[in-house]
Amino acid sequence: MSAAAAARQILTHLHEVMASRLHAQGKLDRVVEIVGEALDSEVCSIYLLREGMLELFATRGLKQEAVHVTRMALGEGLTGTIAQNVETLNLAEAKAHPDFQYRPETGEEKFHSFAGVPIVYRERAVGALNVQHLDPRRYEDVEIEALQTTAMVLSELIANTGLIDEEEALGLTEASTEPAKMEGLPLVKGLASGVAVYHQPRVTIDHVVAEDVEVERQRVYRAFDRMRDQIDTMAQQAEFGAGGEHEEVLQTYKMFAYDEGWSRRINEAIDSGLTAEAAIERVQQRTRMRMREIDDPLLADRMHDLEDLSNRLLRIVSGQIGTAASKGLPRETILIAKNLGPAELLEYDRRKLKGVILEEGSLTAHVVIVARAMAVPVLGRVRGLRGMVREGDEVLLDADAGTATARPAQTMLQAFEARFAQTKKRLASYAELRDVEPFTRDGTRIQVMMNAGLRDDISSLNLVGADGIGLFRTEFQFLVSATLPQRERQTRLYRDVMDAAGSKPVVFRTVDIGGDKAVPYLASEYAEQDENPAMGWRALRLAMERKGLLKAQARALLEAAGGRPLNVMFPMVAEPWEFDAAKAVFDEQLDYMRDRKKMLPETIRYGVMLEVPALAEVLDLMIPRISFMSIGTNDLTQFLFAADRANPKLAERYDWLSPAILRFLRRLVRGTQGQPIDLGVCGEMGGRRLEALALLGVGIRRLSITPSSVGPIKELVRQVDLAEIEAAMDEWLVRPPGCLREAIAEWAQAKGIDTQ
Ligand code: PEP
Ligand code: MG
Repeated sequence: MSAAAAARQILTHLHEVMASRLHAQGKLDRVVEIVGEALDSEVCSIYLLREGMLELFATRGLKQEAVHVTRMALGEGLTGTIAQNVETLNLAEAKAHPDFQYRPETGEEKFHSFAGVPIVYRERAVGALNVQHLDPRRYEDVEIEALQTTAMVLSELIANTGLIDEEEALGLTEASTEPAKMEGLPLVKGLASGVAVYHQPRVTIDHVVAEDVEVERQRVYRAFDRMRDQIDTMAQQAEFGAGGEHEEVLQTYKMFAYDEGWSRRINEAIDSGLTAEAAIERVQQRTRMRMREIDDPLLADRMHDLEDLSNRLLRIVSGQIGTAASKGLPRETILIAKNLGPAELLEYDRRKLKGVILEEGSLTAHVVIVARAMAVPVLGRVRGLRGMVREGDEVLLDADAGTATARPAQTMLQAFEARFAQTKKRLASYAELRDVEPFTRDGTRIQVMMNAGLRDDISSLNLVGADGIGLFRTEFQFLVSATLPQRERQTRLYRDVMDAAGSKPVVFRTVDIGGDKAVPYLASEYAEQDENPAMGWRALRLAMERKGLLKAQARALLEAAGGRPLNVMFPMVAEPWEFDAAKAVFDEQLDYMRDRKKMLPETIRYGVMLEVPALAEVLDLMIPRISFMSIGTNDLTQFLFAADRANPKLAERYDWLSPAILRFLRRLVRGTQGQPIDLGVCGEMGGRRLEALALLGVGIRRLSITPSSVGPIKELVRQVDLAEIEAAMDEWLVRPPGCLREAIAEWAQAKGIDTQ
C-alpha cells in the first residue's frame, strides 16, 4: 500500500471508530491497531497526560503490562520531548537521539525507527502518538501527516470524553496561584504592568473528519474569499495608505492570501477527508514543521505572517471570529500570544495596551517593528508562556531585563512600582533636556545626533531633541519588505524623512545589505559564496555589482531632496576608488535629471563610513574627496579584533575601552584635524555614557546614537571638561593601566561625572 493510500485508510477507519459505541479506552485501543497496521509499524502507542506525567494509555506492539504503568515526565525520553516541545520527531534510529531513554517494561529494545507527534488540546500538548518499526527507516511526509491527523482526532475524543483532566491540560493547577517568573528576549525595551489578556481565544476544532467533502470545500472557498476581502480592505485603510512599513507588511499578506500553493494544499487535505478547519490546521502544522528546519530568521518572520493569516482563515471558517481586540480591553493590559501579526496588534486600543509577551517573535519581525513605533514593550521567545499565565492574572513586564512575572507577590509589586517610578522620572528628566543644547563645561558644543532607519523612528527626532539624523540606515526598508522596494516607494520614504526633520540634517547611508542583514529576495547574490558574510559580499560591494540597485537608490535620494540639501554616506568603503565608483553612479543620475530639467538638490555632501581599518591608512587620499566621515565602531571593532560582532561567545571578550581602539580613534581624529571634514562616530559605542566620555577624550565631537540614548548622553556632555578628559586620556594611552575601563570609571567618579 502506498503511503498516501495508508493515510486515507487511517482516516476512513478512524471515522468508523469515532462514530462507534465503544467507550473511550476501547477507542484508543482500536486507534493504535488501525494506525500501526496502515503504517506497517510493529508498534503504535498513545500516551496521555495524567497527574503531570505522560502515561501509556494504549499500545500495539509494546507489552500490554506496561499500559497505565509506564509513565514519563514532560521532557523525559522521546515521548516527553515531543510533548514538552510540542514537536514532531521522525527518526531512522531512535537510540541515536540524545533524549532516547529505554524502559525495560515495554520491551521496545528491538525497534529502530521511531516517529511521534504531539496530541494537542487547546494549544497545549496533552500526550503523544508514536509509531516504531523494527528496521531503521524514516517515515514519509504523508505518513507523518496521517499521524498528525490521527492526533487531531484523538484530541477531539479527549475533549468529548474527559480522558484527561481539563484543568490539568491547561496547566492551571493549584500551584498556579504562585508567582511565575518568565524569561525571554527583550524585543522592545521598557517596563509595563497590567492584567493578562489572551490575544486569541483559541479556535477549537470540534470535528476533524468530514461528513461531506464538497461541503467542506465550499466552506473553505468562501472563507478564502472573505479573508482576501478583509486584507484588501485593510490595505485601503488610511492607516496603511501612506506608504511605509505597514504597507510593505500588507503586501506580504496579500502575497500569501492569494498564494495558489497554500489554497491547493488545503484543498488536498480536504480531499483526504478532513473538515475545513482540520485541513487548515493540518497544512499549518506542516508549515510549522518546515519552519523549524529553516535557519533564516527573515524567512521565519514571513512565515509568522502566514501563520497569522492561517489563524484568520481558521477563525472565519469556524465562525469563532473575535480576538481580544474586538471585545475591547477591560483595563491596562499585557497581551499574551503565541505570535501576533502586525495588523492584529494595531487593532488594539493603544491607551490600554501596555505590553506584549510572545512565545515566539524576533527582533526583525514586523509586529515588533510596529510595537516599537507604538512604544509598547515586547518580551519574546518566552518558553511555556501559556502554561504559566492565566487570563486575568496580574503581570509585571520588565522588557529591559528580559523578564516577566505573573501573579507577583506584594513585595515584587512594590519593588517594580519603585523602579517604574524611577524610570519615569529619568525619562522625564531627559525630556526636560530636549531643548537644552549639549555644551561641555568648558563651552564646546557637541553634536548629538540620532540613528534611525524606519519611518516610525522619525518622530523621536523632536521628542529627544537630537541635532539631526547622523545615520539613516536605508537598508531597513529593504529588510521589512517581501520584495525589493520600488524606487517610488524609496523616494516617498526619503522625502517624508526629510520633511519630518525640517531644518535638521539627515545623513542617508546607501544600503548596507548582506552580512547579518540578509534579505531573502537577494540571498542568491551573496549567500552561496560567503563563508564569512561580515567580510563578504555586502554593502557597497553588493550595491556596486547590482548597479541597478544603487542607481535606483541614487535617483530616489536625489529626487526626494529636490530643492534642499542632501547628505549621502557610503558604507564599508575600504579604498578611495570605491567611493569614486559609487559617487559616479550619483553623478550619472544627476546628469540625467539635469537633462530632463528635474529639480535637483540644493547642495549634495558626500561622506563615507570608516569601518574598514584599511581606510584609515589612506586618509590623505580620501579626505579631499569628501565632506564628512562617520566612524562605524560596530564594524570597525569586529575588524580590528577579528571578532564577529554577532558571535555571543566573543561579545564580552574585547572592550571598546581598550588602548587598541582608543589609540586607533585618536589617530583618526589627529589625521583629520585642521582639514575641511566633519568627523563623527555612529556606532553603538557612542550611546553609552562611559564610552562616550572616552570618545570625547580622544577628540570626537559628533555622535550619532540610538534615540533613547540622546537624553543620557546630553546629560553626560554637560558634566565634562574636555581639557581634563583629554589630558587624562593622553596619559592612559601612553602608559595604559591594567584595566582602562576601570581607570576611566574611577576618574569619572572622582570628578563627580555620572557614567551609569
Ligand atoms: C557600524 O558598523 O558601526 C554602523 C553604525 O553600521 P551598522 O551597525 O549598520 O553596520
Ligand atoms: Mg557597519
